Amino acid sequence: MALSVRVVGVGDAFTARYYNACLLIEADDTRVLVDAPPALARALRDLGDRGGPALGLDDIDHVLITHLHGDHVGGLEQLLFWRRFVTRRRCALHAIPDVLAGLWSERLRGGMEVLMDGDGAKHPLALNDYADVRPLPADPRAPFALGALTVEWRPTVHHIPTSALRFSFRGATFGYSADTAYDPSLIAWLGEADLIVHETNLGVHTPIDRLAALDHSLRDRMRLIHYPDWHDLDASPLASAREGDRYDL
Ligand SMILES: [Zn+2]
Repeated sequence: MALSVRVVGVGDAFTARYYNACLLIEADDTRVLVDAPPALARALRDLGDRGGPALGLDDIDHVLITHLHGDHVGGLEQLLFWRRFVTRRRCALHAIPDVLAGLWSERLRGGMEVLMDGDGAKHPLALNDYADVRPLPADPRAPFALGALTVEWRPTVHHIPTSALRFSFRGATFGYSADTAYDPSLIAWLGEADLIVHETNLGVHTPIDRLAALDHSLRDRMRLIHYPDWHDLDASPLASAREGDRYDL
C-alpha cells in the first residue's frame, strides 16, 4: 500500500460551501486525521459519496491537531465524546507541545471536564481520560514515528502556534502547510515532498498570486486548500484540492 492522502474538507474558517480544511493520511494500517473540524462525523461519512469509502468517528485511531483555531479543532469534542461514551475505544491525540498546552484549558475543558452520572454525582475528567495524548517532539527537526509513518513538523507564520507537517512512508513524502502566511522557507521545506497541499486565502494567509509565481516544478506538485468559497477551481492558476480527492504517493 502506498502513502495515501484523502481530502476530507477544503474550506476556510468562514465557508458556507465546504467542510473546513481536513486531511486523512493513510499508510499500511496507520490512519491519521489531520485536524478535526466541525461537523466531523458528516465530513467523514460524506467521503462515501466522493470516491469512498465512507468513514465514521470510530475509524480514526490517530488525530493530529495543527493549531487551535475553531475550524481545525471544533470537531474534536464530538470525536472524543463518541469514543469515550459510545464505543469506548480510545484514540491517540497528537499535537506540538504549544498546541497541547492550550487544547484542554483553552478549548475543550468547559464542555468536557465534568461528567455527571445517573445519580447526579459529578466526576472530574482530564484530557488523558479521553485520549492517549502524544506530544510531537519539541524540536521541530526531530522526525518521529507515528505508526507506519515518519512525521516531521515545523512552525508556520500564523496568529497562534501552528505546525506544518511532512509525512513519509517507503520513500514517498507528503507535505502540508497548515495555516500560514506566505513563507518561502516553509515552501522550500515542503518542496522536498512529492506532493504538497498548501493553504491559500486573504488577509494574513498565503496569497494565491505568490504561489502562482513559484517555479513550475513546485507548482506542479502543489494542491490548494483552505480557499474561500468564491475561489474558482477551474480558473485557478494552481490545481485545487477537492473534497473526496485521493492522492496515492
Ligand atoms: Zn488558523
